[in-house]
Amino acid sequence: MNFKPADQIQDLQYFGEFGGVNPSISDSSTYTFLSAKTMFDTFEGNADGCYLYSRHSSPSNLYLGKALAAMEGTEAAHVTASGMGAITATLMQLCKFGDHVVCSRTIYGGTYALLKNFTSGFGIKTSFINILDINAVEAAITVKTKVLYCESISNPLLEVADIKALAELAKKHKLKLVIDNTFSPLSISPAVFGADIIIHSLTKFINGSSDTLGGVICGSQEFIDAIRDVNTGAAMLLGSTLDSVRASSILKNLRTLHIRMQKHSSNAYFLATEFQKRGIITVYPGLQTHPSHDVLNGIMNKEYGYGGMLTIDVGSLEKANNLMELMQDKNLGYLAVSLGFYKTLFSAPGTSTSSEIPEQEQTDMGLSPGLIRFSIGLDANVERTCSIMLRCMQELEII
Ligand code: PLP
Repeated sequence: MNFKPADQIQDLQYFGEFGGVNPSISDSSTYTFLSAKTMFDTFEGNADGCYLYSRHSSPSNLYLGKALAAMEGTEAAHVTASGMGAITATLMQLCKFGDHVVCSRTIYGGTYALLKNFTSGFGIKTSFINILDINAVEAAITVKTKVLYCESISNPLLEVADIKALAELAKKHKLKLVIDNTFSPLSISPAVFGADIIIHSLTKFINGSSDTLGGVICGSQEFIDAIRDVNTGAAMLLGSTLDSVRASSILKNLRTLHIRMQKHSSNAYFLATEFQKRGIITVYPGLQTHPSHDVLNGIMNKEYGYGGMLTIDVGSLEKANNLMELMQDKNLGYLAVSLGFYKTLFSAPGTSTSSEIPEQEQTDMGLSPGLIRFSIGLDANVERTCSIMLRCMQELEII
């Protein structure tokens, strides 16, 4: 693939107000106008380059949005206060009462709960399907379907969506293909294969320091203009706006994303390979045994690797909890949800990030109680990390 997302980011050069190498942070919630007419025009969306009110846009948020649009290869982007802020605004913008969503059944628990329990109350129905079964996806589409929604690499099962096939289907049925790319920034560029809207929780790898929430919606200029329209835009009206100070700190962290992703990926690849050698049930998209390994090879930007997420199944929740507590005691990482931190984070999704999904549905999709999800950190010496992890597993008779 020729699209080089890190080069796209690299080529953007911003100057601060006083010639600083970082753009100045916009420290205002509201903006003055020299003429009342320009204020009116701005409300009407006709005064390019003018700022109105920071819930609409601010210089710092626009800088970050521009960099993320460049990274994803879309015309524009709108940053939000969290990943859920991006997801809610996007879905509420695309769907109205009576509309229907076709959604992967393995997605982040918050997104699942939103579609299952919340938007259903606004007359928006959702069918949850196995996204790997393209025939099942097509069969679920009705005349009311507006959106096809999935994660490029799913949370927590690490299923890889065949974005090319889904984009074709979306085009055929005139749907918007929305991809949450939180697990695979830089590694996968969904817009290149025809995705309409790409979402990230910036909270994760993109910011990378677990100190703030953030989100982004990347798409066409028309869609981004619509989502922040003062009269009808879901992002503007629902109000999940990112603060300028946070936007500026996320932009600075974005500068090192390519290096971090390479290290997350190479560490995860090493650990997954070693775990599998010892007979531990390991799921990692970089392993040849992963069912979607070839699909991923066909869509990924190889230089960033297969990502920093892997899962192992240790057989029971009790064993999973014991192992996570022991690993935390040995300073191998934190028993914590979320991902993309410099330290390894581990959690049992069935009782944490996917607990919104009912038990039976968890079983149906293959989410077992002994599953541990790892976000592999940036450890300098991964061989050492691996041997301590394996010793923990031996001590608990997991291997
Ligand atoms: N999308 C994915 C894949 C996630 O894992 C999460 C959070 O864990 C979100 C979206 C929601 O992001 P946030 O917590 O920033 O609202």
